[in-house]
Amino acid sequence: MKYVIVTGGVLSGLGKGITASSIGVLMKSVGLRVTSIKIDPYLNSDAGTMSPFEHGEVFVLDDGGEVDLDLGNYERFLDISLTRDHNITTGKVYSSVIEKERRGDYLGKTVQVIPHITDEIQDWIERVSAIPTDGLDEAPDACVIELGGTVGDIESSPFVEALRQFQFRVGRENVCFVHVSLVPVMGPVGEQKTKPTQHTVKELRGLGITPDLIVCRSSEPLQQEIKDKLAAFCHVEPRAVISAHDVSNLYQIPMSFERQGVRSMIAECLGVDTTEDDQFLEGWREMADRVDEFQDEVRIAMVGKYTGLSDSYLSVIKALQHSAMAVNRRLVIDWIESTDLDSSNLDSNQDGYSKAWGKLELADGILVPGGFGNRGVEGKIEAARYARESGVPYLGICLGLQIATIEFCRNELGLLDANSEEFVENSEDLANKAVVFMPEISKTHMGGTMRLGSKVTPFTVEDCKMKRLYGGVTEVSERHRHRYEVNPDLIDKIEAKGMIYVGKDETGQRCEIMELEDHPYFVGTQYHPEFKSRPGRPSPPFLGLMKAAVGQNM
Ligand code: GLN
Repeated sequence: MKYVIVTGGVLSGLGKGITASSIGVLMKSVGLRVTSIKIDPYLNSDAGTMSPFEHGEVFVLDDGGEVDLDLGNYERFLDISLTRDHNITTGKVYSSVIEKERRGDYLGKTVQVIPHITDEIQDWIERVSAIPTDGLDEAPDACVIELGGTVGDIESSPFVEALRQFQFRVGRENVCFVHVSLVPVMGPVGEQKTKPTQHTVKELRGLGITPDLIVCRSSEPLQQEIKDKLAAFCHVEPRAVISAHDVSNLYQIPMSFERQGVRSMIAECLGVDTTEDDQFLEGWREMADRVDEFQDEVRIAMVGKYTGLSDSYLSVIKALQHSAMAVNRRLVIDWIESTDLDSSNLDSNQDGYSKAWGKLELADGILVPGGFGNRGVEGKIEAARYARESGVPYLGICLGLQIATIEFCRNELGLLDANSEEFVENSEDLANKAVVFMPEISKTHMGGTMRLGSKVTPFTVEDCKMKRLYGGVTEVSERHRHRYEVNPDLIDKIEAKGMIYVGKDETGQRCEIMELEDHPYFVGTQYHPEFKSRPGRPSPPFLGLMKAAVGQNM
């Protein structure tokens, strides 16, 4: 097994995940089967209990693991399916060591960070990197490991130490260290400054890790003299200083790295033959160039809790991009804060209200993504009503399906107080429960207790738009993350009025896919289709939204 270990310095948010995924793409292009591991040095066991507005979206895996969004980047870039164990956190490592200690596995020893925690980390990496992730049965050939945070943080130090030791455990010739840093630009002439990188590499080397490659984020391509200077100060060859400058779209990054020789340097470092499959990279190049060429726009209104961190909806954005690409359009997302659409706030928010509705009315399609809690719900309900009544394409994901159902119950079934148990204080007092708490869900523990991960949804009808979009299959398997569901007692009444649940779970009770009759495209899914979308293979419900938005048949 070959390992590429990606660390970061100076500051977070440098795009380490994208760097690591792009390196993975290059390794795939020399014929290696590549998997990946993300290390997050926080104490949470997983990302499930973390706010997406602080930390970015919670990505959901097939096995129900709720993990860091970088695992989504790996799945999309490398076309693999990971497991919860591919996301290592301090919380998981400590839980495992403490459990072993209680079992008596350490035979009377004092249990310490070194060697017990650091050994646990290394064992974990070796075990998990061998799990097949590309659908074949054998272990992968190579694993890209990304260490979250920045080197020098207190939290990451046991991981840095474990990775330092790891090069001796598996052999230095099987490990390539890549350090991602920042080269800021200062002053009127735009001088590229090397000092932050010098410092972070010095720190990394002080911890016993010498980088083989230094990837420098900067706005413009790195000048040769800057590369030379960094090489001299950071104990690498000049060609090993890589420029990660701004590019027109993400898919250009593997190509930019390839032009700088990253592929051959990594292959050299790991001692693998470079039987380069240029066909593979050609596919990426084509995609990257195509994305830059689209002239016509498609406008999608995203109605959610918008806080300025677009990472909170990362996979949804990706799935929209994949499907816009499929209909040859440039994607424009209009973010609409749903509280602004709520007419009951009108008096105090005239300006916000008219701006929000102005944007909504310009949209070619409307998307209500997943969400929790009752803030902004009434605005989303009004957006769903507008889409339903005016024939504008609508896709509701998870919460978005529940919203569409509530709206339909209120305005078509005349159940004026219809709501979700999630959004009212005393759900016993709610006469018309359109959406109810699922019986099997814990009321005391929040972490990892939702209905999570891949589940099968058989179609309940012979023919419908969604079935066609999925290629005529009889069932689909998609990923879930929810606590509430459409009230099974109301389904007959709702369906009688034309809102049909064309996909239900295997018991035939639980609503999974909703389609409205006599509407160009008004669809909801209880699952999150965005997690399985891939470039070149867009998620069918998203593709449907896009096709309807540009007026194509499906
Ligand atoms: N809050 C809703 C539920 O728990 C929707 C969840 C979601 O959109 N992921 O069912």
